[in-house]
Amino acid sequence: MLTPKELERYSRQIQLPSLGKQGQEALKNTTAVVSGVGGLGGTVALYLAVAGIGKLILVRGGDLRLDDMNRQILMHDNWVGKPRVVKAKETLSQINPDVEVEVIPEYVTNDNVNSLVESSDIAFSCAHNFPERDILNIACVKHNVPMVEAAMNSMEAYLTTIVPHKTACLSCMFPEKPNWDRRAFGVIGAVSGTLACLAALEGIKFITGFSEPLLGELLNMDLGNLTFQKLRLYKDPECPVCGE
Ligand SMILES: [Zn+2]
Repeated sequence: MLTPKELERYSRQIQLPSLGKQGQEALKNTTAVVSGVGGLGGTVALYLAVAGIGKLILVRGGDLRLDDMNRQILMHDNWVGKPRVVKAKETLSQINPDVEVEVIPEYVTNDNVNSLVESSDIAFSCAHNFPERDILNIACVKHNVPMVEAAMNSMEAYLTTIVPHKTACLSCMFPEKPNWDRRAFGVIGAVSGTLACLAALEGIKFITGFSEPLLGELLNMDLGNLTFQKLRLYKDPECPVCGE
């Protein structure tokens, strides 16, 4: 049940006829794990929090660096050197104290991934490298948890929502991973932010049933020349992760 305060806080989105109170309650009853809490994942967490997600589990190792500050909008200048996820929780709790935030100041590994995914209804794959994305993908397929997959390289970005055993998984999509190295490309905060808003919206659509998420389709974007393209994804029956 939504409290009077929640009904007021979210009234502008509850107004959307296809979202409504039912969608808002679905958001409240959802736990989302976000892997990678940087320019992309941090902004995803922000928009899930303001939308009224029930609980966020933020997973990211390492401390804030000064060169993160052009895109990590949950961070404050005087937090450089402090653990990112702990500080992300501080900001999110100030913006929306009704959202429960659990922080795991670690990278996603084979040791922690199963407990993270098992306690979540949906995952957001925003890590800066493909090995972590693969580990999350395998666990999501195993535990039947949907995963919003969002990645970027310079001005290019892609996005899809993976529903295990229904749509292509990350391994079907990229048996060999793109050669994207996180420190080797430049990034503008507005680019990671654009992708993050779309990724958060994918999750909100999926959770609430409001509008159509990208199921079985990959949105490919070039934000340099503003080209947006939707490609059909092929679910590989022989996929080593999700195949029969
Ligand atoms: Zn697959």
